[in-house]
Amino acid sequence: MIKRIYLLILVCILTCCNTKKDHEVEVQEFEIGIVADCQYCNCETENNRFYQKSPERLRKAVKELNKHALDYAIHLGDFIDRDFQSFDTVAPIWNSLKSDRYHVLGNHDFSVEDSLKPMIFEKMNIEDRYYSILINKWRFIVLDGNDLSLHGALTDCKKWQTDSLFRLLSDKNRPNLEIWNGGLSTEQLKWVENELQLATENKERVGFYCHFPSLGEEQTHNLWNYEQLLSLIDQYPCVKFYFNGHNHDGSYVQKNGVHYLNFKGMLDTKDSSSFATVTFRKDSLFVNGYGREPSRSLKIR
Ligand SMILES: [Zn+2]
Repeated sequence: MIKRIYLLILVCILTCCNTKKDHEVEVQEFEIGIVADCQYCNCETENNRFYQKSPERLRKAVKELNKHALDYAIHLGDFIDRDFQSFDTVAPIWNSLKSDRYHVLGNHDFSVEDSLKPMIFEKMNIEDRYYSILINKWRFIVLDGNDLSLHGALTDCKKWQTDSLFRLLSDKNRPNLEIWNGGLSTEQLKWVENELQLATENKERVGFYCHFPSLGEEQTHNLWNYEQLLSLIDQYPCVKFYFNGHNHDGSYVQKNGVHYLNFKGMLDTKDSSSFATVTFRKDSLFVNGYGREPSRSLKIR
């Protein structure tokens, strides 16, 4: 008799659990690693940029990240500062990450001889200059802010488009119209829109990665045509965050519940590094900062 009651209780518990599962959307918690502006070159220190300290800082960051079960790690651009051979110093360190790893293209990654520019993609294991990563009902859109730029437009067509965008924006007095910034082509913006539509249809959440900010505490580092991207982001509730590097001081701004977080540059300062892990939860993102990067909890809208 007692056995039967236990059995009945057990069946009831199991049934209750199953019923709950049917009604709740399962959100799997996962973690990623983020590094911004490793920016290595075998050069003398300049403007608080300790280029020669980057390999050791990257090595220590990778050692820490390898203690975590990461779904992937991403470097937010400016992996090197200049010279093609700089890749050979830092790429093996980055490639010792146990997790999947991705690169965002930064302006300094193109600071190599023109003839060597087509080869940087292979050095950085980049198949497409902009692409997306699909994991756990999230769509991570990786932008190429050098698409239209004086350093990264590699075809005649892109060079012509760069020229016309730059001239179009020159009429207005813009703080971000610097030659070390860049912009998105119409082709890339159309691709982004298509990605956002796909994410909406598939009920995915979206996060952006770009080397350049689109919104920050200051304007000088922004993508040339950041307004075009922001007007797209504003139309899609699936977008939850935009993470970037480029401004080594870091920055954080929230607009309509979307988090625009600029991670601090790893190579800056004499004695401190900067990198982070981000844990994706059902309602929030937890940025666990190391070194100069602050830790913060970001509510998902
Ligand atoms: Zn940069």
